[in-house]
Amino acid sequence: MDPLLSELLTRGVLEREQWRELLSRRHQLDRAALFALAREIRARWFGNRVYIRGLIECTNYCKNNCLYCGIRRGNSHVQRYRLTQAEILACCEQGYRWGFRTFVLQGGEDPRLTPDWVAQVVREITRRFPDCAVTLSLGEWEREVYRLWYEAGARRYLLRHETADPAHYARLHPPAQTLSRRIACLYDLKALGYQVGAGFMVGSPGQSDDTLAQDFCFLQDLQPEMVGIGPFLPQHDTPFAQEPPGTLEDTLLLLALLRLTLPAVLLPATTALATLHPRGRVLGMEAGANVVMPNLSPPAVRESYALYDGKAATGVEAAEHLADLRAQLAPLGLTVAIDRGDAPTKRPQQS
Ligand code: SAM
Repeated sequence: MDPLLSELLTRGVLEREQWRELLSRRHQLDRAALFALAREIRARWFGNRVYIRGLIECTNYCKNNCLYCGIRRGNSHVQRYRLTQAEILACCEQGYRWGFRTFVLQGGEDPRLTPDWVAQVVREITRRFPDCAVTLSLGEWEREVYRLWYEAGARRYLLRHETADPAHYARLHPPAQTLSRRIACLYDLKALGYQVGAGFMVGSPGQSDDTLAQDFCFLQDLQPEMVGIGPFLPQHDTPFAQEPPGTLEDTLLLLALLRLTLPAVLLPATTALATLHPRGRVLGMEAGANVVMPNLSPPAVRESYALYDGKAATGVEAAEHLADLRAQLAPLGLTVAIDRGDAPTKRPQQS
Protein backbone atom coordinates (compact mmCIF):
# COMPACT_ATOMS: atom_id res chain seq x y z
CA MET A 1 0.00 0.00 0.00
CA ASP A 2 1.08 3.58 -0.62
CA PRO A 3 3.06 4.68 2.48
CA LEU A 4 1.00 7.87 2.87
CA LEU A 5 -2.25 5.89 2.73
CA SER A 6 -0.86 3.61 5.47
CA GLU A 7 0.01 6.64 7.53
CA LEU A 8 -3.49 8.07 7.02
CA LEU A 9 -4.99 4.81 8.22
CA THR A 10 -2.79 4.57 11.30
CA ARG A 11 -2.66 8.22 12.36
CA GLY A 12 -6.07 9.30 11.04
CA VAL A 13 -4.58 12.53 9.68
CA LEU A 14 -1.96 13.80 7.24
CA GLU A 15 -0.18 17.15 7.12
CA ARG A 16 -0.85 19.57 4.26
CA GLU A 17 2.44 18.71 2.52
CA GLN A 18 1.67 15.01 2.77
CA TRP A 19 -1.80 15.52 1.35
CA ARG A 20 -0.34 17.49 -1.52
CA GLU A 21 2.15 14.74 -2.25
CA LEU A 22 -0.49 12.01 -2.07
CA LEU A 23 -2.89 13.99 -4.25
CA SER A 24 -0.20 14.78 -6.81
CA ARG A 25 0.27 11.07 -7.49
CA ARG A 26 -3.36 10.10 -7.08
CA HIS A 27 -3.53 8.75 -10.64
CA GLN A 28 -0.91 6.13 -9.79
CA LEU A 29 -2.80 4.73 -6.81
CA ASP A 30 -4.33 1.27 -7.03
CA ARG A 31 -7.94 2.42 -7.37
CA ALA A 32 -9.53 -1.02 -7.04
CA ALA A 33 -7.71 -1.63 -3.75
CA LEU A 34 -8.50 1.87 -2.48
CA PHE A 35 -12.21 1.54 -3.27
CA ALA A 36 -12.33 -1.93 -1.65
CA LEU A 37 -10.77 -0.47 1.49
CA ALA A 38 -13.26 2.41 1.48
CA ARG A 39 -16.15 -0.08 1.23
CA GLU A 40 -14.70 -2.15 4.06
CA ILE A 41 -14.48 0.92 6.33
CA ARG A 42 -18.03 1.94 5.38
CA ALA A 43 -19.29 -1.56 6.22
CA ARG A 44 -17.60 -1.38 9.63
CA TRP A 45 -19.62 1.72 10.51
CA PHE A 46 -22.83 1.29 8.55
CA GLY A 47 -23.14 -2.40 7.56
CA ASN A 48 -24.93 -2.62 4.23
CA ARG A 49 -27.23 0.33 4.89
CA VAL A 50 -27.57 3.27 2.54
CA TYR A 51 -29.42 6.34 3.79
CA ILE A 52 -31.84 8.33 1.71
CA ARG A 53 -32.68 12.00 2.16
CA GLY A 54 -35.61 13.65 0.42
CA LEU A 55 -34.34 16.89 -1.11
CA ILE A 56 -36.86 19.71 -1.25
CA GLU A 57 -35.54 22.68 -3.22
CA CYS A 58 -37.66 25.31 -1.55
CA THR A 59 -36.53 28.47 -3.34
CA ASN A 60 -34.25 29.38 -6.23
CA TYR A 61 -34.15 33.09 -5.39
CA CYS A 62 -30.64 34.01 -4.27
CA LYS A 63 -28.95 37.24 -3.25
CA ASN A 64 -25.50 35.76 -3.87
CA ASN A 65 -23.59 35.75 -7.11
CA CYS A 66 -21.34 32.67 -6.88
CA LEU A 67 -19.58 32.47 -10.22
CA TYR A 68 -20.29 28.76 -10.73
CA CYS A 69 -23.96 28.61 -9.81
CA GLY A 70 -26.90 28.64 -12.20
CA ILE A 71 -29.26 30.28 -9.70
CA ARG A 72 -26.86 33.16 -8.96
CA ARG A 73 -28.45 36.59 -8.61
CA GLY A 74 -26.98 37.76 -11.90
CA ASN A 75 -28.67 35.08 -13.98
CA SER A 76 -31.78 36.73 -15.37
CA HIS A 77 -32.74 33.68 -17.42
CA VAL A 78 -33.88 31.65 -14.42
CA GLN A 79 -37.57 31.31 -13.77
CA ARG A 80 -37.64 32.07 -10.05
CA TYR A 81 -39.95 30.25 -7.61
CA ARG A 82 -40.47 29.92 -3.90
CA LEU A 83 -42.48 27.03 -2.41
CA THR A 84 -45.20 27.78 0.12
CA GLN A 85 -45.32 26.08 3.51
CA ALA A 86 -48.24 23.99 2.25
CA GLU A 87 -46.24 22.87 -0.80
CA ILE A 88 -43.24 21.91 1.35
CA LEU A 89 -45.45 19.94 3.73
CA ALA A 90 -47.10 18.18 0.79
CA CYS A 91 -43.61 17.10 -0.40
CA CYS A 92 -42.87 15.71 3.08
CA GLU A 93 -46.24 13.92 3.16
CA GLN A 94 -45.51 12.23 -0.14
CA GLY A 95 -41.90 11.50 0.83
CA TYR A 96 -42.96 9.96 4.13
CA ARG A 97 -45.23 7.54 2.28
CA TRP A 98 -42.33 6.52 0.05
CA GLY A 99 -40.10 5.82 3.07
CA PHE A 100 -38.13 9.04 3.60
CA ARG A 101 -37.31 9.87 7.21
CA THR A 102 -35.07 12.86 6.50
CA PHE A 103 -36.20 15.97 4.68
CA VAL A 104 -33.60 18.40 3.41
CA LEU A 105 -34.81 21.94 2.78
CA GLN A 106 -32.33 23.49 0.41
CA GLY A 107 -32.42 26.80 -1.36
CA GLY A 108 -30.68 29.93 -2.46
CA GLU A 109 -30.18 32.74 0.02
CA ASP A 110 -33.62 34.13 -0.63
CA PRO A 111 -34.01 37.61 0.92
CA ARG A 112 -37.74 36.99 1.41
CA LEU A 113 -37.12 33.83 3.43
CA THR A 114 -37.37 35.17 6.96
CA PRO A 115 -35.87 33.27 9.91
CA ASP A 116 -39.32 33.04 11.52
CA TRP A 117 -40.91 31.62 8.40
CA VAL A 118 -38.26 28.90 8.20
CA ALA A 119 -38.61 28.16 11.94
CA GLN A 120 -42.35 27.80 11.49
CA VAL A 121 -41.91 25.34 8.62
CA VAL A 122 -39.36 23.31 10.62
CA ARG A 123 -41.69 23.24 13.63
CA GLU A 124 -44.57 22.05 11.51
CA ILE A 125 -42.53 19.28 9.86
CA THR A 126 -41.21 18.00 13.19
CA ARG A 127 -44.74 18.15 14.69
CA ARG A 128 -46.30 16.21 11.83
CA PHE A 129 -43.42 13.76 11.32
CA PRO A 130 -41.88 13.23 14.76
CA ASP A 131 -39.79 10.28 13.59
CA CYS A 132 -38.12 12.34 10.87
CA ALA A 133 -35.03 14.52 10.82
CA VAL A 134 -35.00 17.99 9.28
CA THR A 135 -31.84 19.12 7.52
CA LEU A 136 -31.45 22.70 6.39
CA SER A 137 -29.21 23.98 3.61
CA LEU A 138 -30.05 27.65 3.28
CA GLY A 139 -26.63 29.28 3.26
CA GLU A 140 -25.00 31.77 5.62
CA TRP A 141 -26.95 33.26 8.54
CA GLU A 142 -26.21 34.76 11.92
CA ARG A 143 -25.57 32.36 14.78
CA GLU A 144 -28.84 33.45 16.45
CA VAL A 145 -30.80 32.45 13.36
CA TYR A 146 -29.15 29.03 13.35
CA ARG A 147 -30.06 28.80 17.04
CA LEU A 148 -33.70 29.66 16.33
CA TRP A 149 -33.88 26.91 13.70
CA TYR A 150 -32.22 24.41 16.03
CA GLU A 151 -34.76 25.23 18.72
CA ALA A 152 -37.50 24.76 16.12
CA GLY A 153 -36.24 21.19 15.59
CA ALA A 154 -33.65 21.27 12.80
CA ARG A 155 -30.71 19.00 13.65
CA ARG A 156 -28.53 19.00 10.54
CA TYR A 157 -27.14 21.70 8.31
CA LEU A 158 -25.39 21.39 4.97
CA LEU A 159 -23.06 24.23 4.03
CA ARG A 160 -20.25 23.29 1.69
CA HIS A 161 -17.11 25.26 2.40
CA GLU A 162 -16.47 25.11 -1.40
CA THR A 163 -12.67 25.44 -0.97
CA ALA A 164 -10.45 25.94 2.07
CA ASP A 165 -7.99 28.11 0.15
CA PRO A 166 -8.82 31.85 0.51
CA ALA A 167 -7.46 32.82 -2.93
CA HIS A 168 -9.36 29.99 -4.59
CA TYR A 169 -12.50 31.01 -2.68
CA ALA A 170 -12.07 34.52 -4.06
CA ARG A 171 -11.86 33.14 -7.57
CA LEU A 172 -15.19 31.34 -7.15
CA HIS A 173 -17.11 34.12 -5.38
CA PRO A 174 -17.54 37.90 -5.53
CA PRO A 175 -15.61 39.91 -2.89
CA ALA A 176 -18.70 40.24 -0.65
CA GLN A 177 -18.49 36.51 0.11
CA THR A 178 -15.51 35.37 2.12
CA LEU A 179 -14.09 32.05 3.22
CA SER A 180 -13.67 33.27 6.79
CA ARG A 181 -17.40 34.01 7.04
CA ARG A 182 -18.24 30.60 5.59
CA ILE A 183 -15.98 28.85 8.07
CA ALA A 184 -17.34 30.88 10.97
CA CYS A 185 -20.85 29.70 10.03
CA LEU A 186 -19.71 26.07 10.03
CA TYR A 187 -18.15 26.39 13.48
CA ASP A 188 -21.27 28.21 14.76
CA LEU A 189 -23.42 25.35 13.55
CA LYS A 190 -21.13 22.81 15.21
CA ALA A 191 -21.15 24.71 18.49
CA LEU A 192 -24.95 24.78 18.48
CA GLY A 193 -25.07 20.98 18.22
CA TYR A 194 -26.01 20.53 14.57
CA GLN A 195 -24.75 17.57 12.58
CA VAL A 196 -22.80 19.55 10.04
CA GLY A 197 -22.09 18.90 6.38
CA ALA A 198 -19.22 20.64 4.59
CA GLY A 199 -17.84 19.88 1.13
CA PHE A 200 -16.61 21.13 -2.20
CA MET A 201 -16.95 20.77 -5.95
CA VAL A 202 -14.40 18.53 -7.64
CA GLY A 203 -12.61 20.27 -10.50
CA SER A 204 -13.89 23.77 -9.81
CA PRO A 205 -11.94 26.40 -11.79
CA GLY A 206 -8.62 27.08 -10.04
CA GLN A 207 -8.64 23.90 -7.93
CA SER A 208 -5.18 22.36 -7.53
CA ASP A 209 -3.47 19.61 -5.56
CA ASP A 210 -2.64 22.26 -2.98
CA THR A 211 -6.21 23.63 -2.62
CA LEU A 212 -7.44 20.05 -2.29
CA ALA A 213 -4.77 19.38 0.34
CA GLN A 214 -6.16 22.34 2.26
CA ASP A 215 -9.68 20.94 1.89
CA PHE A 216 -8.59 17.68 3.50
CA CYS A 217 -6.78 19.50 6.33
CA PHE A 218 -9.83 21.67 6.94
CA LEU A 219 -12.11 18.63 7.07
CA GLN A 220 -9.71 16.88 9.48
CA ASP A 221 -10.05 19.91 11.77
CA LEU A 222 -13.79 20.47 11.41
CA GLN A 223 -14.69 16.77 11.70
CA PRO A 224 -18.04 17.22 9.97
CA GLU A 225 -20.69 14.51 10.22
CA MET A 226 -21.34 14.81 6.47
CA VAL A 227 -19.27 15.76 3.44
CA GLY A 228 -20.88 16.59 0.13
CA ILE A 229 -18.63 16.47 -2.91
CA GLY A 230 -19.59 16.29 -6.55
CA PRO A 231 -18.04 17.35 -9.84
CA PHE A 232 -18.20 21.00 -10.85
CA LEU A 233 -20.47 21.14 -13.91
CA PRO A 234 -20.67 24.31 -16.00
CA GLN A 235 -23.94 26.20 -16.41
CA HIS A 236 -24.32 28.09 -19.67
CA ASP A 237 -25.49 31.40 -18.14
CA THR A 238 -22.65 31.75 -15.62
CA PRO A 239 -19.15 33.24 -15.94
CA PHE A 240 -17.82 29.67 -15.81
CA ALA A 241 -19.88 28.51 -18.80
CA GLN A 242 -16.77 27.57 -20.79
CA GLU A 243 -14.85 25.91 -17.94
CA PRO A 244 -14.29 22.14 -18.15
CA PRO A 245 -16.29 19.91 -15.77
CA GLY A 246 -14.72 17.96 -12.93
CA THR A 247 -13.94 14.35 -13.77
CA LEU A 248 -15.53 11.10 -12.72
CA GLU A 249 -12.11 9.64 -11.88
CA ASP A 250 -11.24 12.44 -9.47
CA THR A 251 -14.66 12.50 -7.84
CA LEU A 252 -14.58 8.77 -7.11
CA LEU A 253 -11.02 8.84 -5.86
CA LEU A 254 -11.72 11.77 -3.54
CA LEU A 255 -14.84 10.04 -2.21
CA ALA A 256 -12.70 7.03 -1.29
CA LEU A 257 -10.03 9.22 0.33
CA LEU A 258 -12.73 10.99 2.35
CA ARG A 259 -14.02 7.64 3.61
CA LEU A 260 -10.49 6.80 4.80
CA THR A 261 -10.05 10.21 6.42
CA LEU A 262 -13.43 10.40 8.16
CA PRO A 263 -14.48 6.74 8.52
CA ALA A 264 -17.93 7.42 10.06
CA VAL A 265 -18.87 10.25 7.72
CA LEU A 266 -22.16 10.40 5.85
CA LEU A 267 -21.07 10.66 2.25
CA PRO A 268 -23.57 11.25 -0.54
CA ALA A 269 -23.22 10.02 -4.09
CA THR A 270 -24.47 13.36 -5.37
CA THR A 271 -26.83 14.35 -8.16
CA ALA A 272 -23.91 16.11 -9.88
CA LEU A 273 -22.05 12.79 -9.99
CA ALA A 274 -25.15 11.10 -11.42
CA THR A 275 -25.38 13.90 -13.99
CA LEU A 276 -21.77 13.42 -15.04
CA HIS A 277 -22.16 9.68 -15.61
CA PRO A 278 -25.28 7.51 -15.98
CA ARG A 279 -23.92 5.05 -13.40
CA GLY A 280 -22.57 7.82 -11.17
CA ARG A 281 -24.63 6.83 -8.12
CA VAL A 282 -23.53 3.20 -8.25
CA LEU A 283 -19.91 4.09 -8.92
CA GLY A 284 -20.03 6.51 -5.97
CA MET A 285 -21.29 3.70 -3.74
CA GLU A 286 -18.49 1.47 -4.97
CA ALA A 287 -16.03 4.16 -3.91
CA GLY A 288 -17.38 4.38 -0.34
CA ALA A 289 -20.43 6.69 -0.44
CA ASN A 290 -23.46 5.76 1.68
CA VAL A 291 -26.12 8.44 1.15
CA VAL A 292 -28.42 9.25 -1.74
CA MET A 293 -30.52 12.40 -1.89
CA PRO A 294 -33.35 11.93 -4.40
CA ASN A 295 -35.36 14.95 -5.46
CA LEU A 296 -38.66 15.40 -3.61
CA SER A 297 -39.42 18.86 -5.01
CA PRO A 298 -42.68 19.29 -6.91
CA PRO A 299 -41.89 18.08 -10.46
CA ALA A 300 -43.09 21.41 -11.92
CA VAL A 301 -40.20 23.36 -10.32
CA ARG A 302 -37.38 20.83 -10.67
CA GLU A 303 -36.11 22.26 -13.94
CA SER A 304 -35.89 25.75 -12.45
CA TYR A 305 -33.40 24.66 -9.77
CA ALA A 306 -30.77 24.43 -12.48
CA LEU A 307 -27.45 24.80 -10.67
CA TYR A 308 -25.64 23.35 -13.71
CA ASP A 309 -26.52 22.12 -17.19
CA GLY A 310 -28.17 18.74 -17.68
CA LYS A 311 -29.00 18.25 -13.98
CA ALA A 312 -30.39 14.76 -13.50
CA ALA A 313 -33.94 14.90 -12.13
CA THR A 314 -35.49 11.71 -13.42
CA GLY A 315 -35.00 7.98 -12.82
CA VAL A 316 -33.29 7.21 -9.53
CA GLU A 317 -32.72 10.96 -9.00
CA ALA A 318 -36.46 11.35 -8.53
CA ALA A 319 -37.86 10.35 -5.17
CA GLU A 320 -40.84 8.67 -6.85
CA HIS A 321 -38.50 6.02 -8.26
CA LEU A 322 -37.10 4.55 -5.05
CA ALA A 323 -37.73 1.04 -6.38
CA ASP A 324 -35.22 1.73 -9.18
CA LEU A 325 -32.67 2.92 -6.63
CA ARG A 326 -33.16 -0.23 -4.57
CA ALA A 327 -32.69 -2.34 -7.68
CA GLN A 328 -29.46 -0.48 -8.53
CA LEU A 329 -28.06 -0.97 -5.03
CA ALA A 330 -29.06 -4.62 -4.53
CA PRO A 331 -26.28 -6.08 -6.74
CA LEU A 332 -23.77 -4.19 -4.56
CA GLY A 333 -25.21 -5.90 -1.47
CA LEU A 334 -26.63 -2.58 -0.22
CA THR A 335 -30.13 -1.86 1.09
CA VAL A 336 -32.03 1.38 1.56
CA ALA A 337 -32.58 2.09 5.27
CA ILE A 338 -35.98 3.44 6.29
CA ASP A 339 -34.84 5.53 9.24
CA ARG A 340 -33.43 8.95 10.08
CA GLY A 341 -29.88 7.82 9.43
CA ASP A 342 -28.20 10.01 12.04
CA ALA A 343 -24.44 10.22 12.13
CA PRO A 344 -23.09 7.28 14.18
CA THR A 345 -21.44 9.76 16.50
CA LYS A 346 -24.74 11.59 17.13
CA ARG A 347 -27.49 9.00 17.34
CA PRO A 348 -31.02 9.98 18.53
CA GLN A 349 -30.69 10.90 22.21
CA GLN A 350 -28.24 13.66 21.27
CA SER A 351 -29.81 14.65 17.98
N1 SAM B 1 -27.43 28.37 -0.83
C1 SAM B 1 -27.04 27.22 -0.12
C2 SAM B 1 -25.55 27.20 0.07
O1 SAM B 1 -24.86 28.07 -0.40
O2 SAM B 1 -25.07 26.27 0.73
C3 SAM B 1 -27.51 25.91 -0.72
C4 SAM B 1 -27.73 25.87 -2.19
S1 SAM B 1 -26.23 25.81 -3.16
C5 SAM B 1 -26.92 25.98 -4.79
C6 SAM B 1 -25.80 24.08 -3.03
C7 SAM B 1 -24.49 23.63 -3.64
O3 SAM B 1 -24.61 23.49 -5.04
C8 SAM B 1 -23.32 24.55 -3.48
O4 SAM B 1 -22.75 24.39 -2.23
C9 SAM B 1 -22.39 24.15 -4.64
O5 SAM B 1 -21.29 23.36 -4.18
C10 SAM B 1 -23.31 23.34 -5.55
N2 SAM B 1 -23.25 23.87 -6.93
C11 SAM B 1 -23.63 25.09 -7.32
N3 SAM B 1 -23.31 25.28 -8.63
C12 SAM B 1 -22.74 24.14 -9.06
C13 SAM B 1 -22.16 23.72 -10.29
N4 SAM B 1 -22.13 24.53 -11.35
N5 SAM B 1 -21.65 22.47 -10.37
C14 SAM B 1 -21.68 21.64 -9.31
N6 SAM B 1 -22.20 21.99 -8.11
C15 SAM B 1 -22.71 23.22 -7.97
